[in-house]
Amino acid sequence: MIEIYHLHKEYEQGVAALKDINLTIDRGEFVFIVGASGAGKSTLLKLIIREILPNKGSIKIFGRDIVRLKNREIPLLRRNIGMVFQDFRLLQDRNIFENVAFTLRVTGASTREIRKRVPLALSLVGLKEKAFKKPNELSGGEQQRVCVARAIVNRPSILLADEPTGNLDPGTSMEIMNLLHDINVRGATVIVATHAKDLVDHFQKRVVVLEYGSLVSDQERGVYINAR
Ligand code: ADP
Repeated sequence: MIEIYHLHKEYEQGVAALKDINLTIDRGEFVFIVGASGAGKSTLLKLIIREILPNKGSIKIFGRDIVRLKNREIPLLRRNIGMVFQDFRLLQDRNIFENVAFTLRVTGASTREIRKRVPLALSLVGLKEKAFKKPNELSGGEQQRVCVARAIVNRPSILLADEPTGNLDPGTSMEIMNLLHDINVRGATVIVATHAKDLVDHFQKRVVVLEYGSLVSDQERGVYINAR
């Protein structure tokens, strides 16, 4: 489903954020990307969602090299990839329903579709009752659930999460990771960049380790490896 070949990214000349990354992720996998701060985790996710372009290499998603996509083809790719961030990025002046509906509205969904899909996504994350609250009336864990609902409302086949538990306490972090795991069990391919050693060790999923921009380890049912 995701095939990455010889991927190389430099933000500034001479400083490589990712070096010659080769990685294949199959449909339905759950993968942790771990590594120290600055190892290149976010860069990898940003490349997959085509927020940025690599200097070299290819990223095939659903069989197409997304590096070569035309600008008008990018929205379709993004509809198929949901993304959850550490800092939530919710619209503070809109209620929860509208935050989740926003993604559908920008893709031109009908009112009927929005009325059907938003409550479904909110039920899935256990927040149907909070639909008309504003983000600041919710706890951190609940806000991250809203972000998960927003990321899956288009029913994407791939869900990316960049340090999704970075701002949450340990108990809430486990709940969010369980939620991402449920979404994976329902069929989505889930990729989580994280520092949360305890969670990585608990789930025993595939673990890809980045170190100074290089892929140094890739293990099935892996544990967190303390990369430098
Ligand atoms: P991680 O997510 O593992 O913390 P990043 O992908 O954010 O790592 O960063 C990898 C490297 O790229 C770091 O050295 C970082 O300083 C650099 N970097 C990230 N984003 C930018 C940017 N927009 N401009 C310049 N350098 C960047």
